[in-house]
Amino acid sequence: MVRHSSRIELSQSALKQNINFIRKKIGPDAIISSVVKANAFGHGIGTFVPMAEKAGVRHFSVASSYEAWQVSRACTQDSIIMIMGILYDEDLEWVIKNKVEFFVFDLARLKKAKETAEKLGMKAIVHLEVETGGNRTGLVESKLPEALEYLRNHSGTLQLKGFCTHYAGIESLSNQFRTQKQLQKFNELYKQVTDSGLQPTLRHTACSAAALAFPETVMDLVRVGTAQYGMWPSPDIYNLHLQQTGKKQDSPLKRVLTWKTDVMHIKRIREGEFVGYGTSYQAPYDMKIAVLPLGYSNGYPRTLSNRGEVIIRGKKAPIVGLINMNVFMVDVSSIEDITSGDEVILIGRQMNHVITIRSFSEFTNAINNELVSRLPDAIPRVAVK
Ligand SMILES: *Cc1c(COP(=O)(O)O)cnc(C)c1O
Repeated sequence: MVRHSSRIELSQSALKQNINFIRKKIGPDAIISSVVKANAFGHGIGTFVPMAEKAGVRHFSVASSYEAWQVSRACTQDSIIMIMGILYDEDLEWVIKNKVEFFVFDLARLKKAKETAEKLGMKAIVHLEVETGGNRTGLVESKLPEALEYLRNHSGTLQLKGFCTHYAGIESLSNQFRTQKQLQKFNELYKQVTDSGLQPTLRHTACSAAALAFPETVMDLVRVGTAQYGMWPSPDIYNLHLQQTGKKQDSPLKRVLTWKTDVMHIKRIREGEFVGYGTSYQAPYDMKIAVLPLGYSNGYPRTLSNRGEVIIRGKKAPIVGLINMNVFMVDVSSIEDITSGDEVILIGRQMNHVITIRSFSEFTNAINNELVSRLPDAIPRVAVK
């Protein structure tokens, strides 16, 4: 097997700890649905899904039928898969046959699901997603009576398992008024459902931020992405956690992902020389630089040019010059015994130093989720203890 230019390690113990923490926050009853859209937020569905199953998860949420198929291949247990987003008509047959559950937010999908289920002699398992003020997907209130009537009339082919919505930015306290109104609307609409004689077993609204900080949103299932990977949804949610627990600081969430590469080449340059393309970095003194074998095509943000850092031999090495497509350079003048082939930490810990995912977002204005979800599928992922 030939090697890739970098590698990602996923920590089973960190994941276990995150799941346990989320469980403690939401109480013993609600189902944890592990949100593994975007290749498990870049962690890699193939490696991450069995790890989550090992940590006790039996429910996964994805954004598309394609991702549902990826998860179905990765599962080692009889886990439930739920599609929250795009589902093409031609994929409905595979979805229903494999008992994959899916959000319905318009009547057309409901009707198509009924036709396909009828043809297969099976039941389609649906979660009715309603519009509560997010103005993304979600069935609008005016169509709800018709949808409920359709569901009642075709209960032989359509199983209404869930009733759900999604908050528009509950991780930020400045959106609190809007998200509270969403919760209120959701509860009103739920009453319409039960008044019509239907009884979905799972009400769900909570994402990570909601599950961690707003108990009234937890209900029967939570859809948790960000937090299970060990990232706080926002400083607001972290501060609410401190407030709720009366602690000054706490780190119950552990980063699951570590990203590593190796030193490809080392060279000495003279004061006044430029590093790499262009003139963005001029050596202020005689320097030693290390060349690393990856760049923006491998998911390393180009905006970290002349700003980011890596760790080599337990020391921080600042980036010098531009991040190229497949290469970038770091200043290793103060790392004496460095040699080509030395391990490099791009994200993660080595000895006393750590490069956090958040340090990337502080430099680049990208959100944590953006950085990790863009890590290319081609980078090998491996589970570690
Ligand atoms: C992405 C997503 C989630 C998970 O959000 P996190 O904040 O990462 O936990 C939950 N529900 C829906 C509908 C989503 O699209």
